[in-house]
Amino acid sequence: MNNIFDSDSVKKLRTLIEKNDKIVLTCHMRPDGDAIGSTLGLWHLLRGLGKNATVVIPDRVPRSLQFLPGVSEIAVYTQHDPYCKRIVDEADLIIMCDFNTATRQGELTPLIQEATCDKVLIDHHKDPDIPCTVMFSYPQMSSTCELVFRLIAALGLYADLDRNGATCLLTGLITDTQNFTVNCNNPEVYEIMMRLLEKDVDKKQIVDEAIKSCTYDSLRLNAFAILERLEIFDRHKCALITLSKEDLEKYDYQKGDTEGLVNEPLNIRGMVYSVFMREDRDCIKVSTRSKHDFPVCDICKDLFNGGGHQMAAGGEFYGTLQECRQIFLDHMADYDKFLPKKKL
Ligand code: 5GP
Ligand code: MN
Repeated sequence: MNNIFDSDSVKKLRTLIEKNDKIVLTCHMRPDGDAIGSTLGLWHLLRGLGKNATVVIPDRVPRSLQFLPGVSEIAVYTQHDPYCKRIVDEADLIIMCDFNTATRQGELTPLIQEATCDKVLIDHHKDPDIPCTVMFSYPQMSSTCELVFRLIAALGLYADLDRNGATCLLTGLITDTQNFTVNCNNPEVYEIMMRLLEKDVDKKQIVDEAIKSCTYDSLRLNAFAILERLEIFDRHKCALITLSKEDLEKYDYQKGDTEGLVNEPLNIRGMVYSVFMREDRDCIKVSTRSKHDFPVCDICKDLFNGGGHQMAAGGEFYGTLQECRQIFLDHMADYDKFLPKKKL
């Protein structure tokens, strides 16, 4: 496996870990497998090294990730606000994983940003703008978990990674690559998977829990979304799914129930990008995916106060679902210039 890091940054990280004891690990709100996997994976490693480490996150861990070892020890800001505040205030080092913009932490943002201790950023989104002591920003990585694994190896700590830590890291690798279907052409990704499996990780359990698990209601909600709420814009090679609060209530929507839905329309031959709008409590949550390097992150940035990766991005819209849909329809043609020229 090639070393992708400059030795100075790795040396700085080693010193920060060695000299500090109270370490906080944190990630973005609405955490996914990569966000929880990277923070919790590092947590297991640091606990094993005898550190007083705590994972502090903005909001709850989705049901699909509840199986991860150590999840019950996570401090959730929306549930344990004073406890989280104390832990962050007392921290000597904060390690931020899987986000590039401070506001991705929602209500936890001020607490983390106003902390004056040393901070490390480990992330794979483009153009990070978070002040920190040392930054590991590698947008070409499949996942933050891949990056964390490489850092652990570069620090010479592979032997200290236990089965629990490896389980968390492989989870992020699996969820961010959609079980090794996207962003995983680099052969080294498979070397990393092999190294994690050598720790006796149960890959089948990860896939069963984190990807292939749903309830009867959520299965029906996803089927309904495709049958009744999917619009295809052939000329623009675009698919759009919109789900209103009423739609969600009808199928007793629980957080995480539509995870993965946005990918489904991309199975249609010739489709280049897919947009999913879901009416949330206080905003319309937008999620996008694409193929052929079509920059859905631009759409999220331009129209939905968001961002992300070139081919997997998201955002939030403040207004009604109808307005959100209309704004997208009004601007859809602006993005035709990014469609692949070749016949699909
Ligand atoms: P998802 O569609 O799974 O929610 O998110 C896909 C990608 O877009 C993730 O890499 C995530 O970091 C990014 N993303 C999702 N929602 C937002 C958002 O509201 N703002 C920004 N800046 N990025 C987002
Ligand atoms: Mn990620």
